[in-house]
Amino acid sequence: MQIRPHDDPQYQELRSRLREIRDLQAAASVLKWDRATYMPPGGVIARGQQIATLRKLAHDQLTDPALGELLENLRDFERSLPYESDDASIVRLARRDVHRALRIPSSFVATLSSHQTDAYVAWTKAKPDGNFEAVRPFLEKTLELSREWASFFPESDRIADALIAEEDEGMTTQTVQGLFETLRSQLVPLVEAIAERPQLDDRILSQHFDETTQLNFCYKAVDRVGYDFHRGRLDRSPHPFTTRLSHGDVRITTRVRPHQLTESIFSSLHEMGHALYEQGIEAAFDGTPLARGTSAGMHEGQARLWENFIGRSRAFWECFYPWLQGMFLRQLGQVPVNEFYRAINKVERTLVRTSADEVTYNLHAILRFDLEVAMLEGRLAVKDLPEAWNERYRQDLGIVPQQHTEGVLQDVHWFVETIGGQFQGYTLGNLMAAQLYESALKLHPEIPVDIERGNFETLHRWLQRNIYRHGRKFTANELVLRVTGKPLHVDPFVRYLNQKYGDLYDIHGR
Ligand code: ZN
Repeated sequence: MQIRPHDDPQYQELRSRLREIRDLQAAASVLKWDRATYMPPGGVIARGQQIATLRKLAHDQLTDPALGELLENLRDFERSLPYESDDASIVRLARRDVHRALRIPSSFVATLSSHQTDAYVAWTKAKPDGNFEAVRPFLEKTLELSREWASFFPESDRIADALIAEEDEGMTTQTVQGLFETLRSQLVPLVEAIAERPQLDDRILSQHFDETTQLNFCYKAVDRVGYDFHRGRLDRSPHPFTTRLSHGDVRITTRVRPHQLTESIFSSLHEMGHALYEQGIEAAFDGTPLARGTSAGMHEGQARLWENFIGRSRAFWECFYPWLQGMFLRQLGQVPVNEFYRAINKVERTLVRTSADEVTYNLHAILRFDLEVAMLEGRLAVKDLPEAWNERYRQDLGIVPQQHTEGVLQDVHWFVETIGGQFQGYTLGNLMAAQLYESALKLHPEIPVDIERGNFETLHRWLQRNIYRHGRKFTANELVLRVTGKPLHVDPFVRYLNQKYGDLYDIHGR
């Protein structure tokens, strides 16, 4: 007689071990959320230790030989079930996680984690003065540790491969470089063509906007689109982020600036996109390796889809602009929706990635990806990074930072993560968002009209059905192929940009 999955005692044992690991990881996430929102600065050192301890405990449990043995014993069980079944997927993903964790010694995890705390503290002190020399030794150590991390996966073709696969399973240095070179060759001329046209005026966005009112608008907007506040909350933090603590608790943060209206709105919509993905994962996956978005790229894709493809569309503001106007009558009362739409879509060569428009944004991300790979492959030394950074900005965007604060020190990533694997996801995400949205529109051409009327259900449900609910069951490549019928490619994104910005800047037929 066939044993039903939930009656198999070894499978039960696996589930209970996986849940404990997930509990430890979730506890670490609560500590990190608190550190990024309400913790007094004095707590930073102890908090780093606490997080490292929890991470170590989780890592120890994940690499416990008894767990490995259990997974070995479950091979027949896994083979007896279809690839797509929840139970087979849980075993498959657990095996993948254990396999990767086993390669990385516990002592290395602790060293890396405590180094990252030091590097983060050094970065927060060095950033305001743009003092690269103060962080250089930390960054050199990070590079050394990142290379050591990669060395635990000697079967990779390129040193960055394992670091990339850690964030974007199924992607390699070569595939990413191929996509990015094609995209860059299309973006640079588009940005140049736009720069030759009369610039859009966005001065209306930098008036004074009351911070609490901005936050109120953000609450209303994400609530209306479909973020579930019963299973989430919205707080302020200097660097906006989303964190999943459980199926019932997926939190987002935003950044509010009194003289930059778009900051709070688009950060909120971006994080909401991440959160809709996490909130949309099957509740039954909680406590298993399936209960998170499948890759950095797919996650970013969900965020950018709502932030840009929807949040910066004309249809979205046909719905929300009257609300926003009502809240900021003095500032926007006399500004027609079309003028607002043009202002939020201004394309400009600027220095800071996180506030870049959707055309130039990818040049920032591709540039960092290339620098990461060059450092890992020994073609670029950390001491030469600022110069390489500036030179690449000159080539791709025609501008050069005057200070490292708005140059090489602007991003926290290399100071809290490894070097390698951190940046490809942003641009892969834009490509995925474009390809998925194109498919959604083919099936439901009414989506923009629905959105204009304040109905976000059609798109939300389509994403829920095709992407969100699966969590980590399929890789991003598998999902893109299943849903769109084609492997990931750059054409949908380029088509989208050419159409939208061709209209906005009147550059069709060039
Ligand atoms: Zn994001």
